[in-house]
This record gives sequence, structure tokens and C-alpha cells, in this order.
Amino acid sequence: MMSIDFLEALSTDNLDAIRAAPKTDVHCHAFFSTRLENVERWIGHSLTKPPPQMDGLAGMMTYADKVLAPSIKHREGFEFVGVSAMDDAVRDGVVMLEMSFDIRLAEFYPDGVAGLWAFIETLVERYSGQADLRPELGFSRGNAYDPKRMRLAHEAVELGLFQSIDLYSDQEACAPEAVQSLYVKARAAGMKRKAHVGEFGGAEEIRRTIEILDLDEVQHGIGAAESVEIMRWLSENQIQLNVCPTSNVILDGVPDLASHPIRALFDNGVSVTINTDDLMIFGQSVSEEYRNLYQAGVFSAQELEDIRRASLEKVPHPYNP
Ligand SMILES: [Zn+2]
Repeated sequence: MMSIDFLEALSTDNLDAIRAAPKTDVHCHAFFSTRLENVERWIGHSLTKPPPQMDGLAGMMTYADKVLAPSIKHREGFEFVGVSAMDDAVRDGVVMLEMSFDIRLAEFYPDGVAGLWAFIETLVERYSGQADLRPELGFSRGNAYDPKRMRLAHEAVELGLFQSIDLYSDQEACAPEAVQSLYVKARAAGMKRKAHVGEFGGAEEIRRTIEILDLDEVQHGIGAAESVEIMRWLSENQIQLNVCPTSNVILDGVPDLASHPIRALFDNGVSVTINTDDLMIFGQSVSEEYRNLYQAGVFSAQELEDIRRASLEKVPHPYNP
């Protein structure tokens, strides 16, 4: 029944009905995961809107540091965003999230990782029954050579709190080898391993990073579409790509939605999911991402339904009715 609803919802452009269908978001960063309007309401004044086109990650960070950081780069701001992000997700019909919490957030708390975890735990509990929040440990490549932050990340993995780990920011900042021992430890702790790679091309580096860090899934990974061989390899090894279409367009990784390589990846048998990345900056919820892909003619309603259903496969009852 739900499948008919979702197909119809897409073809009749009924956003409320698209929202009503259960969905997942497995590529989202807690720090930027609520809508900008919510931050504006909370601080009581408006903020400069993100430019429609930004010069890659550097452009995004310039905007975030200048406009967003003053309002949210402290414990109170982060905790507001965390709760508000979960409200946004629930309203959008997202029933399972692998939301990443950067290890630097521990620095907002006098007791470090324990303080951060106590907050995350309240989030998990507060939304249980509505959304299955699976906390993910986030680590920026820029911190790979910062002994203090690396120690914090090791501590977080050792505590066995997080269900998955993700590596991100400028691919040039460190080679995967620099975080390999952290990933070995994460594997031993039973954590799912992910990393951002191939956001701006570079099919071979995707395979190399997967092999060195023994990744289960890749965040973005759209550069794989440059190589049929790498796409086949991803498909054979059942490596899922967690794609964020609007993020890719705004950060100039792809020219427009209609030519997004998610189509080529899908056609070559690579499993893909559809996600938000940073709702505060890119402004499109998971439901809107589905709608946009349909309207841009990238996928048929049935293909989007297949992608949605596949993303829910490992999501248990009652989140997945
Ligand atoms: Zn991301």
C-alpha cells in the first residue's frame, strides 16, 4: 500500500505524501543538520543565505565559518541544532539516521567524550519510537595529525558508544593511511566503517581508500562513475554509496541534477542511498531530494521506490512499518 502511495506521491508532486513514506538519512552531519530557518528563529534574527553555488568544500567552509559558526559553534548552539535536526528528520518521514558527530564536539564539554555522549544519548532516547538514531563518530581529515583529537577519537571508539565511523573534509589533508589504526580499532569494535571519498572525482582513490580502511560504505563516491571497472568492483563487493545530490550540485561536484552520476552508478549495479549531507547549507530534506531527482528526470518513480525500499531493508520494526 505504501509503495503505491510513494509512487503516486512522486508523480503527482504531493510532498506531504512523499514525507509520509518512511525514509533513511545515512549521510548527515549533526552540526549542520537542521534548516537554517530554525537557527534564525532561535537566535532571533536572519542570517545571510548560502550562495546557490559554492567553490567546493573550501567555499562551503568559508560561508559556514563566517555566517553559521558564531551562532552555533558552542555547546548551546550545537545542542539546539541536534534537537532541531531530529525534529526536521521526523517531520520529513526519516525513520533511521546515521548522523555523524564530529569528535571536536567533545571539546564543548568539560568532561569531553563522556559529556558529548550523554547529550547524544538523550537524543537517541527522546526520539526513540519516532526515529532510530544511530550515532556515528565523525573525524575530519584535518585532525589526522592533531595528537589530542586523534586520542579523543580513539577514546570514543574504545568506549564502544558509536555504531559507525566517518572520515571527511579535504581529501588532500591526509592519506587514508594516516587514520588506518583508528579504523582497525573501529572494526574490532564492530563499527560500520565509512569515509567521504570521490566527492569531486577520482575513481581509483575511492577503491584505494576502501581497501586501506576496509570500508563498508562510501559517503558520496560519485567519482566512481568515471570508471566502469570501479563501478563493477563496487557492485561486486557490495559497497554502498551514500549520495547527497543537492550538495554535489551546490559544491560544483556535478553541473546539475539532471546529469548527476547517481544514474550511471545505479545503472551499473552500485547500491545508492539518497541523503541530505548538511540541511542547514543545502536546504533539501530527504523527501525533497527524492522529489528533485524525479522531477529532473534522473529516476522513474518506481526506481526511486526501489532505492527507498532498499535503504529500509535493515531498519527494524517499528521504524519500518
Ligand atoms: Zn558529507
